[in-house]
Amino acid sequence: MPDATSHNDVIILGGGLAGLSAAHVLARAGRRVRVLEAGAGAGGLARTIVHGEFRFDLGGHRFLTPDRRIEDFVRGLLGDELLTVRRASRIFLRRHHFDYPLQPLNALFGVGIAASFAILLNYAKARAMTRLRRTPLLSLEDWVVAHFGRSLYEICFRDYSEKVWGIPCQRIASEWIAQRIQGLSLGTAIRQAFSRARNASPPTLTDEFLYPRLGIGRIAEKLQEGLGQDNAVLTNARVTAIRHRERRVASVRVRQGDRVHEFHGGEFVSTIPLPQLAQLLQPSAPREVREAAARLRYRDLVIVAVMLNRARATDLTWIYFPEKSVPFGRVHEPTNWSPHMAPPGKTLLIAEHFCCRGDDIWGARDEELTATTAAHLERLGLMRRNELLESRVLRIPAAYPLFEIGYRGHCETVLSHLDAFPNLHVAGRGGMFRYYNMDRAIESGIAAAESILRREPRQRSAERPAKVRRRA
Ligand SMILES: Cc1cc2nc3c(=O)[nH]c(=O)nc-3n(C[C@H](O)[C@H](O)[C@H](O)COP(=O)(O)OP(=O)(O)OC[C@H]3O[C@@H](n4cnc5c(N)ncnc54)[C@H](O)[C@@H]3O)c2cc1C
Repeated sequence: MPDATSHNDVIILGGGLAGLSAAHVLARAGRRVRVLEAGAGAGGLARTIVHGEFRFDLGGHRFLTPDRRIEDFVRGLLGDELLTVRRASRIFLRRHHFDYPLQPLNALFGVGIAASFAILLNYAKARAMTRLRRTPLLSLEDWVVAHFGRSLYEICFRDYSEKVWGIPCQRIASEWIAQRIQGLSLGTAIRQAFSRARNASPPTLTDEFLYPRLGIGRIAEKLQEGLGQDNAVLTNARVTAIRHRERRVASVRVRQGDRVHEFHGGEFVSTIPLPQLAQLLQPSAPREVREAAARLRYRDLVIVAVMLNRARATDLTWIYFPEKSVPFGRVHEPTNWSPHMAPPGKTLLIAEHFCCRGDDIWGARDEELTATTAAHLERLGLMRRNELLESRVLRIPAAYPLFEIGYRGHCETVLSHLDAFPNLHVAGRGGMFRYYNMDRAIESGIAAAESILRREPRQRSAERPAKVRRRA
């Protein structure tokens, strides 16, 4: 640990992929950086847990990007460590497996003739209503009903979305679903199926992805390794205050165990959750900014990993469980992503329980969570009780920014206030309150670094360059 007060060129708050990518680019350009990470290790949401001979991500993380530059960046870090993995995911619903991402035709045939007829009728009705009314599609429910009809919404979308977000679909903003299934509707899906125009699929629906042989955490490890001796990632180092004067951030206060340190810097990149950043400012942000920040919420996650004495449980990448009778929302088997994730002859299943800090799932004892998860996996035919070797439970705060209707305004209020600090750059998924996948998180970190590098020192006080967030 450095002296009680130390000066660094650039201070980076948060050691996930966004923070580490910013650090990587800055260090390569000869800037001195220090990354402050609250957790015991770097990597944030994209880290890989090593449990004896088993390895697993915090929910399987596939790497996929339409951006050639970001793909080259990751390939440059990992080289031949990267495997190309074929995606095969299913939704388990009404005791049937359906394709994931949802193939509406597969759903139509799977639900039976009467339900299929209702789906098509409802879809036609929804399209007619949408054309007539032309009201904005504000909520997830509005958006899905307009694009797929009410029956398909109720069968395929409602329960899973409510499980993920923990609030009714009428309160979830439509942007999230519109972004996830860009341009798709029941009509286009039917047309695509008949014309076999499958190569028109948006990138998140593609069939292959990249994955490091030893888990997604290798990206963060490689980024960290490349930082060089003058730069450091400080772990177990929680930022507890951000001090500013005369419209510039001057230093951050960091708690590490029972010690407190002050780090001064010229430039600051924040990838910690946006509302936290706003609350940590000293002197405090105006009341309306703090109130807006308090309204921005995240969805949290509990991961239950069960290590099994069997060679394989499924041949799938992910299985989605929309129904409320199953307590987790998604399961993956890391050995289908890379055979190096478990010792020979053994496998593991990772169940994702979506929750909120402080609720019953978050607060349940590890043994209870393991027992419930194992019982449901057994009921679903994915394991047998006598195969269970070990388990591990992890609680992940701020896993998903919660896009509740109205969030955009609160976000803008906070970000506009932060614009007043020209040497403070925000990046990353939680940092910008965006539904970013890894590629966008990396890209935003690189953009923050490049924005800092573009500045001439003499420009810093005279002129305010465009803030990074406007580019992302
Ligand atoms: C279950 C799940 C599955 C996913 N699957 C995929 C996938 O398949 N493909 C894909 O591309 N993306 C996936 N993602 C998204 C991906 O994880 C993120 O886009 C990416 O990891 C975000 O990186 P980040 O650096 O922006 O944020 P984070 O990883 O959240 O990093 C922020 C860091 O800040 C630290 N921090 C917070 N507060 C403080 C503080 N006060 N002081 C110091 N440090 C602090 C945190 O500990 C954390 O390490 C998934 C996400 C989840 C939750």
